[in-house]
Amino acid sequence: MSRKNPNIIITGTPGVGKTSHCHVLAENTGLKHLLLNQLVKDKSCHEGWSEEFQSYIVDEDKLLDAMENEVEQGGCIIDWHGCDLFPERWIDLVIVLRTATEQLYDRLKARNYPEAKLQENIDSEIMEVVLTEARECYASEIVIELQSNTTDDLDSNIERIESWIENWKQRPSVD
Ligand code: ADP
Repeated sequence: MSRKNPNIIITGTPGVGKTSHCHVLAENTGLKHLLLNQLVKDKSCHEGWSEEFQSYIVDEDKLLDAMENEVEQGGCIIDWHGCDLFPERWIDLVIVLRTATEQLYDRLKARNYPEAKLQENIDSEIMEVVLTEARECYASEIVIELQSNTTDDLDSNIERIESWIENWKQRPSVD
């Protein structure tokens, strides 16, 4: 069955602005914000807490099972710091948010990230780890890289994604 609303991944290194973007988008469009960090905790989609990484060790199969019903109905905005675990058929658009080192450093520092975790995330942003993953996993025409340094960026990104959603809804139906 074809979806009436698209599924969108908003991804990127921690601190780039995924949750901020998803929150506004969900409010403006009525699409559903799937905050996967919360789902991992609420539905116990993990194998415990890693002291080393200061995060849950995610059980990806459990996480996919926990989100499957909702995603298959369409209209989900998936908020996650990676994108290689989702089946390609679920996804209509992949937004990779990017932030300059200085801003990202300040945002992660404000979250009191331990130094090693902070540095690891800064390195990952500089090395474009999530962008590379997105380009490897999805067709290039559905992967969009957007800057998220300022609130003006946020506003223009939201506008752009909203107009993409409207276009998607008006596309000729395939069935
Ligand atoms: P993520 O979900 O990617 O970890 P958040 O949305 O939680 O990131 O944002 C981290 C912090 O950065 C928050 O304090 C948020 O207000 C701020 N922030 C996010 N995006 C922007 C932006 N484009 N411009 C300015 N501040 C931003």
